Amino acid sequence: MTPADDPEVKISNRDRVIFQDSGQTKGDLADYYASIAPLMLPFAAGRPVSLVRCPQGRAKKCFFQKHDTGGFGPQVHTVQIPEKSGQSDDYLYVEDAGGLLGCVQMGTIEFHGWQARADDVELPDRLVFDLDPDSGLGYAEVTRAAADIRDRLVADGLESFAMLSGGKGVHIVAPLSRGHSWDSHRDYAKGLADLVAEAEPDRFTATMSKAKREGRIFIDWLRNQRGNTSVLPYSARARAGAPVAAPVTWDELATAANAHPYSISDAARLIERAAGKDLAGWGIVEQALP
Ligand code: ATP
Ligand code: MN
Ligand code: MN
Repeated sequence: MTPADDPEVKISNRDRVIFQDSGQTKGDLADYYASIAPLMLPFAAGRPVSLVRCPQGRAKKCFFQKHDTGGFGPQVHTVQIPEKSGQSDDYLYVEDAGGLLGCVQMGTIEFHGWQARADDVELPDRLVFDLDPDSGLGYAEVTRAAADIRDRLVADGLESFAMLSGGKGVHIVAPLSRGHSWDSHRDYAKGLADLVAEAEPDRFTATMSKAKREGRIFIDWLRNQRGNTSVLPYSARARAGAPVAAPVTWDELATAANAHPYSISDAARLIERAAGKDLAGWGIVEQALP
């Protein structure tokens, strides 16, 4: 039985068109997640998630959801996380394909994850540098920037992996063993972004301000703060053409045409690629924050 046939996750309105430009339906999206679940879950399972939900399709109202609002069904779990205010709030996480589909049933298109797992949210386990190019910059600029970040990480003894966001930019992901605090996680990410931006201020900025971003690539290190998220590998995107966030090798990063070459209609191709030797170890390495 594939998850798409799971009687506990009934997908209603399978024929509803979710991606108006390219025609994919809610059923197509559910089938994509059912197929890609074995590739996606190693990065998504057990991690607090925020969802981009578009119940009437991506062309209508979408919203970014961090907390449990009920109605997700038994395969979508909750974890209480203390907020800065001292109060706790319920966050969502999934463990399996049924959980992904439970979210799709509720109109979810995108899955974004914390850089920590639900069983101990105070111990971050993944660095993400989200490269956001200013509108005038081309994809080639972004790939060059990604290689620069990779080299900085290598200098600190860290291996990293590239992911096409499915949007405009690239994410660089460095898995870390758990054992350091959010403060050191954040400080390391900010420190690296500042170093790169200060070395080449014409190409980069590490500050969010719109004015400073003009003509530059914003190295968005803020993904590494407690409570912030980044789009998870293999998540679909609520953007034109139903693109997905796709792990790539460093070689493929350099040869891709843009940051959104794969869509939810490419599940078979993504699965075949992931089995290839170059991509098989993507996102898997034992290393600690320097
Ligand atoms: P792109 O490559 O086009 O930049 P992206 O996924 O990196 O795609 P960003 O706009 O850079 O998109 O967003 C980075 C992250 O910020 C997202 O992955 C998401 O986790 C988080 N985010 C996005 N929208 C919201 C929101 N409305 N509220 C809170 N966090 C958000
Ligand atoms: Mn981005
Ligand atoms: Mn960003």
